[in-house]
Amino acid sequence: MSEKDIQRYKVAIIGLGPGGIGAALKLHEQNIPFIIFEKSTPGGKVNVAPRVDNYPGYKMIPGPELAMELYQRIVDAQIKVTFKEVTSLTKTDDIFTLFTQDGQAYEADFVIIGSGTKEKKIGLDKEEELLGKGISYCSICDGHFYKDLPVAVIGGGNAALKEAIHLSEIVSHLYLIHRRNEFRGQTNFVNELKAKENVEILTPYVPVEIEGDDFVQGLKIQNRETGEIKNLKIDGLFPLVGQDPNTSFVKIDGVLDEYKTIPVNLRTMETNCHNLFAIGDCLPRLIRQIYLAEHDGIVAANTIISRMK
Ligand SMILES: Cc1cc2nc3c(=O)[nH]c(=O)nc-3n(C[C@H](O)[C@H](O)[C@H](O)COP(=O)(O)OP(=O)(O)OC[C@H]3O[C@@H](n4cnc5c(N)ncnc54)[C@H](O)[C@@H]3O)c2cc1C
Repeated sequence: MSEKDIQRYKVAIIGLGPGGIGAALKLHEQNIPFIIFEKSTPGGKVNVAPRVDNYPGYKMIPGPELAMELYQRIVDAQIKVTFKEVTSLTKTDDIFTLFTQDGQAYEADFVIIGSGTKEKKIGLDKEEELLGKGISYCSICDGHFYKDLPVAVIGGGNAALKEAIHLSEIVSHLYLIHRRNEFRGQTNFVNELKAKENVEILTPYVPVEIEGDDFVQGLKIQNRETGEIKNLKIDGLFPLVGQDPNTSFVKIDGVLDEYKTIPVNLRTMETNCHNLFAIGDCLPRLIRQIYLAEHDGIVAANTIISRMK
């Protein structure tokens, strides 16, 4: 690719989740020119949150509705979104180079990474093969396929508990499988599930085999204390056992930690690399929330604005 083909920007933002949206609105407010990339759906993971109970200003709001409201702010501000996947990010001297999946190169003086996470795999045979054929990581997107059918949710955090609550309203029977007897998620969600007649909580169990050739037909689980095996007849399986960061495109040494998350200075959101910032869920943190991602985006944008003055 020749020099003239490279598009040059002051700032590049990767990801249009709450983090990227927070950063974009702040930069826009100060008339800083930037480009923002999104590979999939504006609003990021908020689109798959069945319900958001802790976003200041709302008692409860369905995730897709909040995602749409966040994106509307971008639309109203007439911010152009580049709907492309960033496939590589490098730095030479003081300039960052980003490539998108179509081979286009972009350069920027500052980069903000707000690329979030993807669901962790449970690591069983057939997990990839049966994705979309009974296996799903999103009840909001796929829950309706399992109306009046039995399903299983695997996991013990808030995301798994909320998915289970949402799915229990649709399916005939829901098994909630967790490897420990205690749940990491909120007690009120656990209690809500315990009170439901069509929910069966199975702990301390781990999944050992997914059954079915063309479609999920069952799940074999094993009790971690007694070794007892149970064969569950299910049509849908929702594994929600954690997240892996979307950071494989980062090709700059020393930016990622051993878990591929991006440590930052929390006062500036700057990474180990000068003028490279990271925000939201791709950071190493225990709590991943919408308002934290937005906060990070605003802090990163503010740091950039102050460096430009
Ligand atoms: C089921 C569920 C329920 C939840 N419930 C709540 C809740 O009630 N309250 C709450 O506060 N939080 C909740 N969360 C967490 C919340 O959704 C996240 O903390 C928040 O969305 C993180 O924002 P982010 O901008 O860091 O990342 P994301 O929202 O993940 O956005 C990242 C964006 O980057 C894009 N992207 C990734 N890689 C690239 C690339 N290479 N090129 C271009 N674009 C890229 C992705 O497509 C995505 O749109 C929930 C999450 C889940 C899964």
